[in-house]
Parts: sequence; C-alpha cells; structure tokens
Amino acid sequence: MIVMTPEATKAEIEAVRERLETTGVHVLVLPGEMVTAIGAIGDPEGVRELGLEGMAGVDRVVPISRPYKLASSELAHHEPTVFAVDGHTIGGPATFALIAGPCTVESRDQTLGVARIVAAAGACMLRGGAFKPRTSPFAFKGLGAPGLEILAEARAETGLPVVTELLDAALADLVARHADVIQIGARNMQNYALLEVAGKLGKPVLLKRGLSSSLDELLMAADYVLKEGNERVILCERGIRTFETATRFTLDLSAVPWLKLHSHLPVIVDPSHASGDRRLVEPLARGAAAVGADGIIVEVHEDPEIALCDGPQALYARDFQGFADRVAAHAALGGRSLA
Ligand code: PEP
Ligand code: MN
Repeated sequence: MIVMTPEATKAEIEAVRERLETTGVHVLVLPGEMVTAIGAIGDPEGVRELGLEGMAGVDRVVPISRPYKLASSELAHHEPTVFAVDGHTIGGPATFALIAGPCTVESRDQTLGVARIVAAAGACMLRGGAFKPRTSPFAFKGLGAPGLEILAEARAETGLPVVTELLDAALADLVARHADVIQIGARNMQNYALLEVAGKLGKPVLLKRGLSSSLDELLMAADYVLKEGNERVILCERGIRTFETATRFTLDLSAVPWLKLHSHLPVIVDPSHASGDRRLVEPLARGAAAVGADGIIVEVHEDPEIALCDGPQALYARDFQGFADRVAAHAALGGRSLA
C-alpha cells in the first residue's frame, strides 16, 4: 500500500501508478478525504525494488502481505499441517505430543534408562543430543557418532522415534540415518545453509526459535525448509532473551496462539530450556497445553546432579510418570490426548 501525502498532485499519483504497473502488479487507486492510497496487489518483491519512497508525493510504503510465504496460513494453506512420525500424530486439534529424554546422550545406560521411563509414561518421541551446541568450546559437546548409535539402540528397544540435533551440514547424512526428526537448535535458526540442507533430508524438522528471533523471522526460517519441498516442520517456542534474568530465558507463551493464527505448522513448547529450572517446567508445560500447543519437549535425567549438561532443568526420571499424567490432564481440557 502506497500512502500519498495530503499535498500529492494528480500527476504524482499517476506517476506512482505508472511505475507500479511496470512490475505487472494489479494497481488500485483509493482516493480518501485527506490522502490517496494506492494498493498494489501482487509480488511485493518487485514493488520493494522500485524505490517508491523516493518519488514525489509519496508519504510511505506500507507492506500489507506477510513476509513469510510457505509457512503462512494465508496462502495455499488454510488447514493445519498434520503428519505422523512413526504412527504418532503431530499437529491437529486432538493430539498432544510429549517429547522427552535427556539433554545429552551421555552413556548407553543413562539414555536407555531414561528412554524406558519416558516410553512407559506415554511419550511419543525420545529427545537426546549427540552433537551439542555449547556456549563455551571447552564444555562437553556430546558423544558424537557413538551417541547416535545409542539413540538407535534406545529406539529399537522402546519403539520411540528419535529427535536429535543437526549442528553441522557436513554431518547431515549421518544424523539423518539415525534421526526420525531432525532438530535445528535455537542458535542455528538463522543458519540458512543448514536449513536448506535439513530441508533436503526427507525427515521432519523440529525448528527451534532463536534466542533473539522474532516470530516473523522464525516463520521465514521455516520457509527455508519448506522451500526444499519438505512439508513436515514443527515450530518450537523455547524462550527468548529479555531483560529478565530470573529465568534462563523468558517463555513467550503468546507465541503459541500467534503462530497458530499466522501459520499452519504444528507448534510445540520447550519449558526446560526456557526456564532452566525443573521446578518451573511443569507449570509452564501446563501453560503450553492451556494455550493450545501441539505438544512439549522436556529434558529428563535419572540423576540430574551429575548430568553433563542442563542438570538443573532436567526433570527427575522417577517423577516423570506423575508429570506426564498431570500435563496430559491439562491437555485433555483442551480436547487433546497424548499422541
Ligand atoms: C536442545 O534442545 O538440546 C537445545 C540445545 O535447545 P536450544 O537449541 O533451544 O537451546
Ligand atoms: Mn539441554
């Protein structure tokens, strides 16, 4: 929408119309009492490149269309995207995905122990990092390829599909061989080359919101994956940076209904990384269910005191069944049952 100044002359309005028409957009002149607005309906990219702001009589150019395309609920996609991972439904109004597991694959015993417990409690997927993005290069970065083997074993034993992070495009084939869902971590949400690689792997992608990323940016990141022909993307709100330091990040629960309005993609919440404190994980998980999330992803450990990563936010494995039952009860209030 091009808004003209109150002083704009007929000739200036005509000049803008003619310039717009060179791009092939449909032009609509809307004379008002004070100002004339000119609607341009069509490809916004071509219009952006015209430099209309510099033309005589133009006050401002206001983009009306959304900057994200394929992730948008506005264009082709009016219906929510629903798909199954190994028979477990993700998305849609009736299911709530409980994804749980250790932050990091530390050992075979630790991972299998947690996997058995979360499977018994009704989780639909096992999480666990073999390649970990760490703030310090001196921190434990995961077991790497042997960690993927352990996840494969946990999958074989429990039947739970596995979600694990892809950190590096060079490892894409290796990770895709073992993962049922490819996780793109918050720190890589805008790693566009990695997003394109992930989009080509033929596996669903769990895309976490960047620490300081807007929801528009999250949906444009999703566009990178969708553009590769991969329709199976799960968005994840995992807390953002704000002035508040009491919690590790600030869980933006309003992101969930906003994303549901603006996108067709399933949305889950990670209360573990958002809060950094296991005592807050259950109330936030219940909140996620209340605002209509399609599920949660949480960290669980049998002995969080000795966890190599994110111990303070890990739920005690021995408490997990109760946690799962209570969260499921909240999800049921919204008409959802565990996937
Ligand atoms: C994770 O889920 O293992 C993780 C590192 O989370 P995030 O990318 O959201 O920090
Ligand atoms: Mn973690």
